[in-house]
Amino acid sequence: MTVTDQGAASKEAASVVPLQSVDVFTGAELAAFEVMTPSAVWDALTAARAAATTWSSLGFGARRTALLAWATELSRSQERITHLIHRENGKPVDDAFMELVISLEHIRWAAKNAAAVMRERRVSPGVLMANYRASVRREPFGVIGVISPWNYPLFAPIAPVASALAAGNTVLLKPSEFSTAVGTALVQAFRRANPGLPEGVLSVVSGYGATGAALVESGVDKIEFTGSPGTARRILASCAQTLTPVVMECGGKDALIVAPDADIDAAADAAAWGGFSNGGQTCVGVERVYVHESVADDFIAALARRLENAYAGGFDTATYGPMTVSSQVEVVSRHVQAAVEAGAQLPLGGLDRVRGRMIDPILLVDGDENNASVTEETFGPTVTVKRVRSVDEAIDLANAGEFGLGAAVFSRSDGDRIASRLTCGMASINSVLAFVSIPALPFGGVGSSGYGRIHGEEGIREFSRTKSVSSKRFDIPGMNGMLLSRAPVTMPALRLITHTRFALRNRKGIR
Ligand code: NAD
Repeated sequence: MTVTDQGAASKEAASVVPLQSVDVFTGAELAAFEVMTPSAVWDALTAARAAATTWSSLGFGARRTALLAWATELSRSQERITHLIHRENGKPVDDAFMELVISLEHIRWAAKNAAAVMRERRVSPGVLMANYRASVRREPFGVIGVISPWNYPLFAPIAPVASALAAGNTVLLKPSEFSTAVGTALVQAFRRANPGLPEGVLSVVSGYGATGAALVESGVDKIEFTGSPGTARRILASCAQTLTPVVMECGGKDALIVAPDADIDAAADAAAWGGFSNGGQTCVGVERVYVHESVADDFIAALARRLENAYAGGFDTATYGPMTVSSQVEVVSRHVQAAVEAGAQLPLGGLDRVRGRMIDPILLVDGDENNASVTEETFGPTVTVKRVRSVDEAIDLANAGEFGLGAAVFSRSDGDRIASRLTCGMASINSVLAFVSIPALPFGGVGSSGYGRIHGEEGIREFSRTKSVSSKRFDIPGMNGMLLSRAPVTMPALRLITHTRFALRNRKGIR
């Protein structure tokens, strides 16, 4: 089998040269797409704006029906879509199906919960404004630009797209140049499921980074970005010019803590799955393990046992697929080299496990914490394992560094307390990655992992803006202080009320 490079994706091609989606295993062309210029992006935005009025005025009930129809259509097309994911991304078909299942659950959750999340909320007007009705409304932004990575080509875009649509926005989706065929397939499924809707409700903006930059500058009302922190910084600099709001979902370096009272077999199963499924190309994949010294030997042996027959390959019998993007091979190799130079032991082997874009599992045990394999996101099938003297040391090391996406802890008795001390957006206790499959749980990070949240209630709120409404119900004669000509009684009455509510309470020591 020839594993070829999707090298086309690395160049910022002129618009006349189409973007090639290629089979990651053979290099054969799967499809070709327009590299959209700024003016083509502008046309797409115009169509999305026009469709926004229709879509938002449909109301929650009709949008829910349209979204559920989309999920049904995706489910009916599962065979075609999962094989397309396999060819374009490289992951085994069963893993592609898992991705589809989770995507469908997120569509369903957004469809069914948007109305409740965005329901108008009455708040107390307070004593001074007792003659008012006060309420908080949520309204869609208009058009959302969603910019996606390649590692979960279906799920990464679907979760924010579903929330944005459910909230009443239209969406321009910029899939990764490495996953444009899958991104296009999910949009086509939406259109097939909803032939009566204008096309601008959900459209693909295809191209490389320059097309993404054009989308950011096009005048969309909000950007949801999922990708690397470097691209996030460039997008933020651009959004600063127009004060365009953003949600940033960036990389991670997630840690798993194994406490002395952990179920070692369960922790090893979780580290194997969390670190190596999808070839480690998971933003919330396990990249570092901190294991208490009292159970370290057992844990390392159990993990190595689970990995000794695991391998990268092109068939469904393989544990996971190749590195989807060839540049990842250099990153993984550099990190393994750095770990070895920093004294790491290699219970499964080292650089000999790198077979071009097929990389078999590599464990890096007890290296120095200050080398690239620990400080940078690897995004490959390697995990560092470090023995620690105490759980406190494990927590400090887990919290060190620039990222804070997810984290996990294995402990029979202390999981909640340890999880509460981890600086991250999502924590799993006695499992890994479970939060991704619970659509009601918000998802996002701290530090270089980004900010803002997708998924769950917060995810729907991200795609709606707040409007505060104060509505006068009746006049209280003489009590309106917000007039150029106040009644003589107004200010003395206000002073008395203020004195009673604040000065008097404080003198009596009332809090
Ligand atoms: P990337 O940053 O290279 O690209 C992401 C997207 O941004 C692509 O569609 C790309 O075309 C576009 N882009 C590139 N330059 C741009 C620019 N200047 N303006 C606008 N758009 C631009 O990331 P990637 O390699 O596709 O994905 C891997 C990264 O994504 C990893 O760091 C991973 O951890 C992260 N990721 C995060 C999450 C999360 O939810 N936090 C999920 C999946 C992946």
